Amino acid sequence: MPRIAYVNGRYLPHRAAAVHVEDRGYQFADGVYEVCEVRAGRLIDQRRHMERLQRSLSELRIAMPMPLRALDVVLHEVVRRNAVRNGIVYLQITRGVAKRDHPFPPAGTRPALVVTASRIDPARTEAFATGGIAVITVPDNRWERVDIKSIALLPNVLAKQAAREQGAREAWFVAADGTVTEGASSNAWIVTADNEVVTRPADHSILRGITRTVLLDVLRAHDLTLVERSFTVAEAMAAREAFITSASQTVMPVVRIDGRAVGNGAPGLIATALRADFHRFAEES
Ligand code: PMP
Repeated sequence: MPRIAYVNGRYLPHRAAAVHVEDRGYQFADGVYEVCEVRAGRLIDQRRHMERLQRSLSELRIAMPMPLRALDVVLHEVVRRNAVRNGIVYLQITRGVAKRDHPFPPAGTRPALVVTASRIDPARTEAFATGGIAVITVPDNRWERVDIKSIALLPNVLAKQAAREQGAREAWFVAADGTVTEGASSNAWIVTADNEVVTRPADHSILRGITRTVLLDVLRAHDLTLVERSFTVAEAMAAREAFITSASQTVMPVVRIDGRAVGNGAPGLIATALRADFHRFAEES
């Protein structure tokens, strides 16, 4: 079965799915994206992902290419046509196609929409969660509006590649003051010796992860204390537990930071419990 992508109004086999060379996403990374988990054929937390999408678009003054209700149909249709039971659905909206020039294109230029879906083997993700993952740290050299989910991800790409080359699954960005901001494609968390669950406040220095937002509800239900503050790399290395959150991995235990074991070097009890309970608090559509 060929993979199918939605590209500006058409469902196309991947080999025929293409955008114009003057798409502003291709030329300038002038666009935004969203990723929803697909679980048992259902979209997870679509409503919140769509809210964040609308915010990213409005921050960049890109128009929504179609009403949310129509986008909902496209997202589900791409998942259906690709027979994705477990995996992700990806959507990207750019400022559209126009003669290459930095300022915004003429009024009336239609934003471009691409939607793809891919399978992720849950057994593989589960195996990573069972063993825990390693992270490395890299200087945070991104712009100061990473709260916008823009497709300009070059620092994230380089950080993730550095992680892979060092046998790690994720890279944590570290601000000039030594505090961890977030992962290349995830939010960063630690659990202190006092069992406080610590994550950075969702200001402009991180993306407000949807998984992060839902996890706040899980923490409350588990009677765990949440502290929204920044933490240093040294503090993370000395923490009882560490983990990351993202739509495609939910809660993923971190067992090594720059080669040093976190806690006893095995996935933490709290991270594991939060992972097990996460979907009870997520929305399905
Ligand atoms: N931060 C960054 C930089 C990300 O790319 C992601 C994943 N999209 C996240 C955090 C986690 O966000 P979410 O939980 O919405 O997937």
